[in-house]
Amino acid sequence: MAYDFDLFVIGAGSGGVRAARFAAGFGAKVAVAESRYLGGTCVNVGCVPKKLLVYGAHVADEVEQASGYGWTLEEGHFDWGTLIANKNREIERLNGIYRNLLVNSGVTLLQGHARITGAHEVEVDGRRYSAANILIATGGWPHVPDIPGKELAITSNEAFYLKELPRRVLVVGGGYIAVEFAGIFQGLGADTSLLYRGDLFLRGFDGSVRTHLKEELEKRGMDLQFNTDIQRIDQQADGSLKATLKDGSERVADCIFYATGRRPMLDDLGLETTGVELDERGYIRVDDHYRTTEASIFALGDVIGRVQLTPVALAEGMAVARHLFKPEQYRAVDYQNIPTAVFSQPPIGTVGLTEEQALQAGHKVQIFESRFRAMKLTLTDVQEKTLMKLVVDADTDKVLGCHMVGPDAGEIIQGLGVALKAGATKQQFDETIGVHPTAAEEFVTMRTAIR
Ligand code: FAD
Ligand code: NDP
Repeated sequence: MAYDFDLFVIGAGSGGVRAARFAAGFGAKVAVAESRYLGGTCVNVGCVPKKLLVYGAHVADEVEQASGYGWTLEEGHFDWGTLIANKNREIERLNGIYRNLLVNSGVTLLQGHARITGAHEVEVDGRRYSAANILIATGGWPHVPDIPGKELAITSNEAFYLKELPRRVLVVGGGYIAVEFAGIFQGLGADTSLLYRGDLFLRGFDGSVRTHLKEELEKRGMDLQFNTDIQRIDQQADGSLKATLKDGSERVADCIFYATGRRPMLDDLGLETTGVELDERGYIRVDDHYRTTEASIFALGDVIGRVQLTPVALAEGMAVARHLFKPEQYRAVDYQNIPTAVFSQPPIGTVGLTEEQALQAGHKVQIFESRFRAMKLTLTDVQEKTLMKLVVDADTDKVLGCHMVGPDAGEIIQGLGVALKAGATKQQFDETIGVHPTAAEEFVTMRTAIR
């Protein structure tokens, strides 16, 4: 049977666009349907605008440090409206780039909500299209727990479009988004509290990293409240929001920001017309080639809930395109040693096993750790400390994990990701000549194991 398309991609986000472009490049006839914004979460309400706001918040640090370097700055004024307008202009530019990328690679772009109506059929705006293969790349959506008053809270989606910077913010959650946005709000001048239900935020990250970041955020005056959660939210007569916590205490804020995880975006997707199954967590179940339990339907990215990061969605998109249309170039995605950064202030960079994971996996570990005040701060009054840590297998000398909290951690950890992928040993780290004077050289000069 002749289909309208070889591949019909639902969602023009990180993974969908990558799969569509590569598939079209391999000669396939490809369509992409997008209901909201080209570039998906990352470009519109994720990585990109987030990083721009983080840059904005960092300016406060530079200003604080300026006097140590002899600069006298006149009293500054921050204007949220300007930052958001400039950010929006950049996002629109990127939307245009994504449109051109797709159209120039020969992909048919359909604007509208796509609904699957069968194993080989998708409906967009009342029109049905047939396809040999369908790719679900619909991403995720913020999940807010069901508490009274939840509609008064915002999520990252709305935070990017707030009309003004709230004066007092309660951030709820202890993952990437909570920590990053707490830093943004605080850095831009809002009175910020972070509320997390567990003992210490960033569960799953290395213990030294979590503790170090907690100490640094407290030094910056952020109010961190652990083992706590909001029971209900009420709007007060003056427009402010009152959060009643589970212990009965109350807190008042102008904005309550929830970052309590994301759910797969499956709304009105029509999965009931197919044999696509979900896993026990509600994400789309796929095999090693991203094929769902319906043979003609594939899924990738946040909607499969493996690793919710843009570079992972990109790699999965490439793998699907190659698997379907260029099998001789197929390479499986390597989920080991994925480097990642949390753009908190200071930021975290990490790759490989945490100390806890290494011990749990049965490794005999050697731990190297260094804490120091970055050279840039020596002429200032800022007392921030940088943390660097290596987790090494004592038997094989292989470096199992690299962790950092400090300026440029994301930039530094990318290179170490290559070293870990290549299986570098501690001896090879030691034999690598440092770049002087940098903070990064500390990663190749830690000589004595602390444990
Ligand atoms: P998405 O990029 O979400 O794309 C899905 C697309 O599908 C969307 O455009 C959506 O509108 C569309 N869609 C959904 N349903 C339909 C339908 N039925 N019909 C048509 N279109 C549909 N990752 C990083 O690596 N680094 C970061 O710094 C980072 N920061 C982040 C910050 C925030 C605030 C958030 C929320 C996420 C961040 N992420 C970051 C994660 C990253 O954005 C995601 O992992 C990535 O975007 C997932 O790509 P995807 O292709 O699976 O889905
Ligand atoms: P995460 O899954 O990272 O964190 C969710 C947080 O919310 C956890 O601390 C979790 O606590 C807490 N939580 C979950 N449910 C509840 C609840 N019912 N009540 C109170 N707290 C709750 O999700 P995020 O929303 O922060 O981000 C989603 C994903 O997006 C990230 O995991 C990451 O993959 C990606 N991302 C990547 C970024 C980057 O690369 N820099 C930046 C932003 C997002 P607990 O730990 O106790 O379960």
